[in-house]
Amino acid sequence: LVSARNVHKSFGHNEVLKGIDLDVMPGEVVVVLGPSGSGKSTFLRCINHLEAIDRGSIMVAGEQIGYRLSGERLTKLSPRAIAAQRRQIGMVFQQFNLFPHMTALENIIEAPVGVHGHSRKDATDYAMELLGRIGLTEKANAYPRQLSGGQQQRVAIARALAIRPKLMLFDEPTSALDPELVGEVLTTMRDLAGQGLTMIVVTHEIGFAREAADRVVFMDGGLVVEQGRPEEVLANPSHPRTRLFLSRFI
Ligand code: ATP
Ligand code: MG
Repeated sequence: LVSARNVHKSFGHNEVLKGIDLDVMPGEVVVVLGPSGSGKSTFLRCINHLEAIDRGSIMVAGEQIGYRLSGERLTKLSPRAIAAQRRQIGMVFQQFNLFPHMTALENIIEAPVGVHGHSRKDATDYAMELLGRIGLTEKANAYPRQLSGGQQQRVAIARALAIRPKLMLFDEPTSALDPELVGEVLTTMRDLAGQGLTMIVVTHEIGFAREAADRVVFMDGGLVVEQGRPEEVLANPSHPRTRLFLSRFI
């Protein structure tokens, strides 16, 4: 579903991604680990073209993200075409970014109705189904300030799912939460993983990686330095950087 090849990205003279290669199969759950500054967030942002890449290519669902091959040359897609590509990709951030003046339900139907032109009725039906899946049916009409951080993040996940994305990106979705609220969000994500959603998850939750990931990818210095099944990479890392990183969690 995702195929990244030799992805390079610099900010000024700072080369943050130095040739990332990554493939993600449909239904696969990939957890990305790595030290601060290794380029994890930048890579996720490149996948849905919040950042433009300098070199290489990223394909999602058979389409080159942000560019089109015309003859021999890559040309930039129009904003409209980029928006259409982004609709295939849901993203959840560390900060939940719910609209404070909208209820949970209104937050979830905002994109389907406002951007995708779905009927309010259909969007509401699907939003209620999603709220059911995350166990928050009774909070449909609550405003974000009336919800705990964990509940807000679960609503943010439902909002991302409301556009029926083919791919979900999570960037440290539990890092801003109080420790006692982390579990409920991870449970929601584990459920989604079990339902066959394709997910790329940047997290420091090693337990989640061990239980829910099909594959763990370790990034360092703008490169993928190691990847494999969680039981292999986590228990028996072969790269010294991975070993050093993991030693902090044990
Ligand atoms: P963390 O674990 O702390 O979230 P990360 O692996 O997600 O780290 P990135 O956020 O991708 O790392 O940042 C990698 C590097 O890119 C850092 O040196 C950062 O300062 C730089 N960087 C990221 N975004 C920008 C930007 N918009 N402009 C300039 N530099 C940036
Ligand atoms: Mg980051």
